[in-house]
Amino acid sequence: MKFSVVTIFPDMVNAYLGASIMKRAIQSNIITVDVHNLRDYSIDKHRSVDDYSYGGGAGMVMRPEPFFKITETLWPDKSERRIIMMSPKGRLFKQDIAEELTKEKRDIVFLCGRYEAIDERVMENLVDDEFSIGDYVLTGGELPALVIIDAVARLIPGVLGDSHSIDEESFSWGLLDYPHYTRPENFREMKVPEVLLSGNHKEINRWRKKQALKATLEKRPELIDKYILSDIDKEILKEIQEEAE
Ligand code: SAM
Repeated sequence: MKFSVVTIFPDMVNAYLGASIMKRAIQSNIITVDVHNLRDYSIDKHRSVDDYSYGGGAGMVMRPEPFFKITETLWPDKSERRIIMMSPKGRLFKQDIAEELTKEKRDIVFLCGRYEAIDERVMENLVDDEFSIGDYVLTGGELPALVIIDAVARLIPGVLGDSHSIDEESFSWGLLDYPHYTRPENFREMKVPEVLLSGNHKEINRWRKKQALKATLEKRPELIDKYILSDIDKEILKEIQEEAE
């Protein structure tokens, strides 16, 4: 799977990619991430990429030429690239989009904005998708691009290793995750729930499902409406409601 990041702060992006799971995924060639400095595609000798805003107002706007130049130089064939603009105005990035992106055969190119905005002609002519990572404004698109790369990469077989299950995580199965415990069994009189020590996998699975349903009901009730409840789920939900009364 191939990602490219276009930024004026390549060091920022490389720092994250140079550690832990992303580093290993890159070293083992499961993913490739090419980080490009937009300033290398500037059209003036000062390597500038921004200018004043037509119409006035605070803040600088990123010029269109460097974005067009890098795209036409590195990804001239439209059918081989999917250009994603990071923007608070974009579609909210969620787990289902991460899953969809894992199937992408084209090079996924992230354009990271800075300053007040990017010239709208970039948006209109180069960009395939516009994604936001949440309803807040950051100083740049580097963190959002890394968030998406991380969320997508960890779904690719081999990135997390065999020991890690992504099937029962928050969002992937439609519910929030259940609580997890490790040693010690008794920590300052706080004990691990007994059922987890029982070895009874049927009971353990039921307990986990109940905790997941409970957490989702409490913290993200709107997710329950979209979740397809099995007969057991309905029985557990009834139990949770009775306990709450
Ligand atoms: N003036 C813009 C607005 O109000 O929508 C905000 C620009 S922001 C200071 C600079 C850049 O950070 C954006 O172009 C975008 O690339 C990135 N950015 C900031 N917040 C983001 C978010 N929530 N999701 C994705 N990208 C974001």
